[in-house]
Amino acid sequence: MPLTTMHIQNTLEAARLADQQDPLHAYRDQFIFPQHNSQDCLYFCGNSLGLQPKSIRPALLHELDHWAEHGVEGHFRGDMPWMHYHRFLTEAAARLVGALPEEVVVMNTLTVNLHLMMVSFYRPTAQRYKIIMEAGAFPSDQYAMESQVRWHGFAPDDAIVEIAPRPGEDTLRTEDILQTIEKEADTLALVMFGGVNYYTGQFYELEKIAAAARKAGAFVGFDLAHAAGNVPLQLHDWGADFAVWCSYKYLNSGPGGPSGAFVHQRHADNPAIPRFAGWWGHDENERFQMKKGFKPMRGAAGWQLSNAQIFSFAAHKASLDIFDQAGMDALRTKSLQLTAYLEQVLTAAQGNRALYRIITPADPAARGCQLSLLTDHRGKALFEYLSENGVVADWREPNVIRFAPVPLYSSFEDVWRLGKLIRG
Ligand SMILES: *Cc1c(COP(=O)(O)O)cnc(C)c1O
Repeated sequence: MPLTTMHIQNTLEAARLADQQDPLHAYRDQFIFPQHNSQDCLYFCGNSLGLQPKSIRPALLHELDHWAEHGVEGHFRGDMPWMHYHRFLTEAAARLVGALPEEVVVMNTLTVNLHLMMVSFYRPTAQRYKIIMEAGAFPSDQYAMESQVRWHGFAPDDAIVEIAPRPGEDTLRTEDILQTIEKEADTLALVMFGGVNYYTGQFYELEKIAAAARKAGAFVGFDLAHAAGNVPLQLHDWGADFAVWCSYKYLNSGPGGPSGAFVHQRHADNPAIPRFAGWWGHDENERFQMKKGFKPMRGAAGWQLSNAQIFSFAAHKASLDIFDQAGMDALRTKSLQLTAYLEQVLTAAQGNRALYRIITPADPAARGCQLSLLTDHRGKALFEYLSENGVVADWREPNVIRFAPVPLYSSFEDVWRLGKLIRG
């Protein structure tokens, strides 16, 4: 029986048995759980800030020691000299998003990278200047789009085309997205979509969106903040021009952790692509000759500006190593099962009280591990009651509670306990 359809009874014994049979269960011990009444809290907030891997502290201490011992020579010494540090993250990051190593670089933070990518891939003309995006995108993305459009002298109301759910529906239909792209084909400069929407948890059909955008002659970029480390991605095959993501949500690399950026291989060898440049994107062989005239490195690395933020990169590397060990396939398999269990438990727990309605798509292919509950006026009280009882979830105005059972460290027992609390 496929794991996703395996039914797990809504009992503590069944949940514990599912944990025993879970091949990833041991990974839980690699993470530090905040405590509530001297017990691990029920942590369902990995969509916002992933838990701390125990391996990060020694990784940070290692770099502090390296600095203490070598001073400036640390750039060139040791098994991971700072000079080349970004390279030590590239392959694992590329595997996570389905990219070639030369298509990926870790640098800066997410919104910064979104702007850098738009400098290169939002090149509006009088004829082609529009951006298509999802309505209700994460605010930072909305502000980035709005300011980019204005910076090029266009009006956001005219240049930004938002696709909203149909009346009475909570999430987008792929057909509506594709139709809008086709309809705007003559004026379209860029399709910029989230991978998984932060509010609804909808995982968009990125492959189809990328194909439609390219057919329309537009560039296409994805913000994978809620997708990286959560859902399977194949950026290279899907043909996106660029993508960006952060490392502190599902990627557990700590608050303010660095961002990843993807630039498709077909742009790798095109130094003529306009970009904002810095010395770290300059041809490595000549970087320290301090010569005039910017010559970009091949691939995504040519978009780097500054030397690596070693401490946050070291944390990110420690976390990426865990993803490499566990593997996205195994994580997705568990995620499908655990999320289905959460859905079952949440549905049973409210009985006929109609406290909430799940707005995340019911189709497992159209979501990651987050379920969003639309509540009524009792929602805030429910959220506060859960918080007082050791549940860490999050509240999004005006009335949504988000729960993310993360396959690396959440358990079936956690989910069962959440249901028990809601049953009261
Ligand atoms: C979390 C998130 C951000 C946050 O951006 P930072 O630059 O990392 O502060 C931006 N966009 C999306 C879609 C997000 O989910």
